[in-house]
Amino acid sequence: MKVLKFGGTSVGSAERIQRLTQIVPSREPVIVVLSAMAGVTNQLVDSAAMVAMQETPKAVELLKQVEKKHKETCNELFRTSEFKMKGKELIRKMFNKAIDMVLAPNVPTNIEKEILALGELSSTALFHLCLQEQQVPSALIPALGFMRIDKDEEPDLFYITESLNRLLDACSGINIIITQGFICRNAKGHVDNLKRGGSDYSAAIIGNAIDANEVQIWTDIDGFHNNDPRYVSGTSPIRELSFDEAAELAYFGAKILHPSTIHPCREKGIPVLLKNTLNPTDPGTRITSSYRANGIRAVASKDGITAIRIKSLRMLMAYGFLKRVFDVFAQQKTAVDLITTSEVAITLTIDDTSNLPKITDALREFSSVEVSVNHSIICIVGEFVAEKPGIASQVLNAIKHIPIGLISYGGSSHNISILVSSTHKQAALMALQTVVSTEITIEQH
Ligand code: ASP
Ligand code: MG
Repeated sequence: MKVLKFGGTSVGSAERIQRLTQIVPSREPVIVVLSAMAGVTNQLVDSAAMVAMQETPKAVELLKQVEKKHKETCNELFRTSEFKMKGKELIRKMFNKAIDMVLAPNVPTNIEKEILALGELSSTALFHLCLQEQQVPSALIPALGFMRIDKDEEPDLFYITESLNRLLDACSGINIIITQGFICRNAKGHVDNLKRGGSDYSAAIIGNAIDANEVQIWTDIDGFHNNDPRYVSGTSPIRELSFDEAAELAYFGAKILHPSTIHPCREKGIPVLLKNTLNPTDPGTRITSSYRANGIRAVASKDGITAIRIKSLRMLMAYGFLKRVFDVFAQQKTAVDLITTSEVAITLTIDDTSNLPKITDALREFSSVEVSVNHSIICIVGEFVAEKPGIASQVLNAIKHIPIGLISYGGSSHNISILVSSTHKQAALMALQTVVSTEITIEQH
């Protein structure tokens, strides 16, 4: 069985949803995982924020706008007035339920999550109805009936596998099974989600739970490119990647794939295929455990990076210093991306600054701290083996005109990461295009 996940732009309009009915194969069993229509989750986030600020009328007004958008989609999506009515009625019920919660005297504590769930609940309901109108057999199974996270917010794979397989057994004979990405229940059984962009993760978890033979992630670009097409012209799609390379690219900015997607698929050796809804015949990018390449494959970047330089007050040879530093970040649940060390100081980067004041206060108890903002990580990905020299010099030579804040090389054999000021990001990406586009392998030196 295959899992096919379609992102927000792939279900972004009536025309796009209709297009999916052609892309989804009806002759083989598939699970179709959908995101919310493009832009909808952002609006729902805004509405939930208004609820939190007790601006209830504004929150309700915004929910009504989102409801209207879905109802207008019904007018275009369905051919018959019967289905237009059915679609609008489904949407009305879902939004009314949420609005009632918002207006209730005791607003549920997880109201934000309840509101965010509307996006995926709506898109899947419309797609299911669209197939029904076209008389294509399909079933809609509720993600809230099987997708679950435990108290550490990790997927509860045992529960998911059991519940999902039970739901699938009840649908035997039906080839197209539709479900929601992103949404789940938490350990208390309340509606929750897998965090922004989490539909890819849903697809990977489902793939793992059913031992899928492929997980397809459909977006609006022909797979991973070897550089960022938003900043560099002449980039080209990469046809094959290893899980390691894809994990680095996904983490460091190539927005196509949510980084959490890799692990559940790699664990079961399930290939991940990245495909373009707008160009379905393009082969896209295939990510497998067997692929082994050589040299520099791709460049990506991640913005909004904060660098923190931490200098030990005791200076030389202080043991236990790193432990104290990392304990601070662990206590504040803040992930560290890059690290470089010298004898007396370390510099590291984070992208989540929500606990930064607490972090710097704690660090200042035993060190001096400098914080600088507005950096980008430039990430060069490939298969770099120590026995074959030359990669680092190719990279540094290409960007020799750009001031570098930090270099991290050797952490894995798949990544060189360089910190630059965000004002130099595009120049760095463009300069590195000369290194990737020719796919120079180390043997050529
Ligand atoms: N709709 C959710 C979001 O926008 C999940 C997703 O699209 O992956 O974050
Ligand atoms: Mg996405």
